[in-house]
Amino acid sequence: MFDTLDQVIDRIHEGKRFLVIGHIRPDGDDISSVASLVMILRKAGKTAEGCIADADSPFLERLDRGGIIKDVDGLRDYAYDTAITVDASELARIGEASKLLEGRAPDITLDHHKSNLGFGKINVCDPAYAATAMIVYEIGEQLVDFDPELAEMLLLGIATDTGFFRYASVDERVFSYAARLVREGANIGRITEAVLEHRTLNEIHLTTAMLDTLKLSVDGRLATAYVTAEMIEGAGCTDDDTSGLIGEIRSIAGVEVAIMFIESIAGSVHVSLRSKQAVDVSEIALRFNGGGHARAAGCSCAGGKLEDLMNAVTVAAERAIETTFAV
Ligand code: 5GP
Ligand code: MN
Repeated sequence: MFDTLDQVIDRIHEGKRFLVIGHIRPDGDDISSVASLVMILRKAGKTAEGCIADADSPFLERLDRGGIIKDVDGLRDYAYDTAITVDASELARIGEASKLLEGRAPDITLDHHKSNLGFGKINVCDPAYAATAMIVYEIGEQLVDFDPELAEMLLLGIATDTGFFRYASVDERVFSYAARLVREGANIGRITEAVLEHRTLNEIHLTTAMLDTLKLSVDGRLATAYVTAEMIEGAGCTDDDTSGLIGEIRSIAGVEVAIMFIESIAGSVHVSLRSKQAVDVSEIALRFNGGGHARAAGCSCAGGKLEDLMNAVTVAAERAIETTFAV
């Protein structure tokens, strides 16, 4: 069903002007994959631009120091012949950036999400890659020489999608690519500082408020918590400040599945799901029109009521845990 990297390389050789698109609620792998692929294409003599629909987050600005990634408005007049999506498991994940495609399927999609069914003309998706940035690395390796800036941008995705080399997805290939990137000049300390050491006091206040909503069930195997739009605003935070919350409750001893419900200021409800060992949370997310990986998945519901979604997802997770552990 999926295509090969050779087909991607051949198609890249045919193109002249590229548009690289990432997903909404950008994480490190998303930013890394978009920015690195743009750098690689430019180094290979192509014209290339990168787009993430909500490109105005401080997280993105901090990590995309070169200002490579633009928002949708900044690219409305950009004419391209090849569109590539990265780290997006379905078309809906690119949000408003789909307007730039004008109804056409992307020419190439590069991804590593288990739930991806392939929505482009050439699709490379392999969950064996711990990060989409590793697929971009393999493209870069064939087309250009790495330089310190490109190497560090690639390492960002590998570091963040492996939880800084902590998850079960970390295999020998992760360390071998990371080693080569460090050899080429990437600095992991700078990435760690930019990603992990920028919590604001307001985020700490929001975490405290969130912990008040924490509930454990199924013999302590399920942890759920939520934040409302009112709580986010009350703590002086924005929707952008909520992505770290899930890690707080996943770290509880004995918890197999952690779920964070986030009622955004923008009006939708986002659900983040994580598991530690056995439960495939992408299957739970899929039932609510989301998706992701076995150990990290999510879904969003525009205009949904927080309480209804919370009840429905919690019941689905309880069933999944009960089935998996026969409790
Ligand atoms: P997070 O919980 O950090 O937002 O996302 C965790 C994982 O689930 C990520 O790999 C992300 O790509 C995926 N994910 C999150 N929200 C959605 C969604 O609405 N749809 C799909 N298909 N995947 C999602
Ligand atoms: Mn990823």
